[in-house]
This record gives sequence, C-alpha cells and structure tokens, in this order.
Amino acid sequence: MYQFSRAIYRELAGYIDGPQNAKCSSSGANHEQVLRACEATVERLATDRHYFAHPARTLFCDIRSYFPMGAQERVYQVVSRYMRFAQQYVAENPLAGYAEIGKPLQCRATTRKGDACQRVPLPHNGYCPSHQHLAETEDHEQLAAA
Ligand SMILES: [Zn+2]
Repeated sequence: MYQFSRAIYRELAGYIDGPQNAKCSSSGANHEQVLRACEATVERLATDRHYFAHPARTLFCDIRSYFPMGAQERVYQVVSRYMRFAQQYVAENPLAGYAEIGKPLQCRATTRKGDACQRVPLPHNGYCPSHQHLAETEDHEQLAAA
C-alpha cells in the first residue's frame, strides 16, 4: 500500500510550500506532514475501505494547505489519480492491504456483547459468514438513502 503514498509524495514534494511561519515550523515539517497524511489515507483505505467513501477528496483537504495556490489543481490531479489506483488495488487484493499495514483482518460487525467480531471476513463485503445479513441491510440502507 505504501507504494501509493510514496508515489503521491514523490510527485508533490517539489510543490510543497516553505514554512508559513518561520518561528514554529521548518520546511522539513511541511514535507513530513504531507507524507504522514498520504500514509494515513492509504492505511485507512487498506483497512476501512467500506467506510471510506472519498479518499481522494479527504487526502486533498488534508494536504492542500501545504501547497501554494498555483499548485492546487496539480495536487488534486495527482491525489485523485493515485487514489484511483489504490482503490482498485485494495478492491482486487483486499487481504494484501491488511497484511502490508500489519493489522489483522476482522469482520466489521459487532457481537451481541458489544465486542468487535473477531472472525475472518469475506473480502467482497468485509463481513464474516455469520454476519453476511448485515451487508444486505447495508445495501438496503444505501438504496433508501439514495
Ligand atoms: Zn462477524
């Protein structure tokens, strides 16, 4: 997964603004913030993609303040291009994302006791076999909302 955050950072590093306020930040700090935001976004995409509807928009909002006005368009294009690749990658390799981030793959449901279900989910909807009905409910809710 981190190949995507590294690629975004590499393409954008040259555009990152210097410190806005020389007293409290160095230019290295801006670079670090951008890289961190990219990493956090791909981590979330790998482990929580069902609840992460607009990764490109989210990442762009997180990092846009580190770039000058003239580079915003470019930043958005780079972010949305790589986020498309990343989304496609996690859709095709749902287990690989988890493995790379180092988090265990878990069903998205909560048990009757209120704990997170520990069972291994099916890749296509993130629920284990005993919680498949929740995925159907979710589809109905999304249809109702639309
Ligand atoms: Zn479950």
